[in-house]
Amino acid sequence: MSLPADYHMHTPLCRHAVGEPVEYAAQAVALGLKEIGFTDHSPMRRDDFDNWRMRADQLDDYVERVRHAQREHPSLIIRLGLEVDYLPGQEEWICELAARHPWDYFIGSVHYVSDSWAVDNPEMISRWKERDAFEVWSIYFDWLTRAAETGLFEIIGHADLPKKFGFIPQRDCTPLFEKFLRAAKKADVAIELNTAGLRKDCREIYPSPQIVRLAHQHGVPITFGSDAHAPGEVGMDLEQAVELAKSAGYTQRCQFVQRRRELVPI
Ligand SMILES: [Zn+2]
Ligand SMILES: [Zn+2]
Repeated sequence: MSLPADYHMHTPLCRHAVGEPVEYAAQAVALGLKEIGFTDHSPMRRDDFDNWRMRADQLDDYVERVRHAQREHPSLIIRLGLEVDYLPGQEEWICELAARHPWDYFIGSVHYVSDSWAVDNPEMISRWKERDAFEVWSIYFDWLTRAAETGLFEIIGHADLPKKFGFIPQRDCTPLFEKFLRAAKKADVAIELNTAGLRKDCREIYPSPQIVRLAHQHGVPITFGSDAHAPGEVGMDLEQAVELAKSAGYTQRCQFVQRRRELVPI
């Protein structure tokens, strides 16, 4: 099976990934991938927002490191993207980021469910124990729905991230998923099948098979991503993600060039 484009990978600028883009690209070539895309964590307007992303003044450096990988590996298609944090109120900043470089795509991700709590941060896992899981998932999916509605993103990242540590609500979350997917369809936004979940406590691709099936029923297109934070993670488990997509009925995936979408066979 030829692997699909790996559209989610990081760089050391975010302070929790290792390896330069040129090394990720070399690994992609070694695996026979034809296309990849870099999507490091976007800067926030305030550099002291948290400590796991590039500073705003490093954005040009980020782009240059991706350009360097493109020059060193001319046979590999390398797209320029960003994984952009969505919190309500960030829209203007995201527009400013969009205007700074000729991006191929933005992945819109919700990590935060308040100004100070990222649900996937292992240092903040104790917060989960103080909260009702359904309430947290409800806020998360509300913000994810709003992220889709903004129209600022081509792709929504790891759509059920709150499952990372295994805090799964007892209540049925299907209405939350459906509302999000209707918004994604209406705004013409794709979702990614992100294999990083397989490497976390939840041991499952983001999003779950249930959400992937619902996404197909709603006509929401897909991309694939390893969410690599090291060169050795490039392309990881993408075969499994392709199997999941096909079992849900997908025959096509998206690719993006300068924020324009094309559908291609998986
Ligand atoms: Zn990261
Ligand atoms: Zn993320």
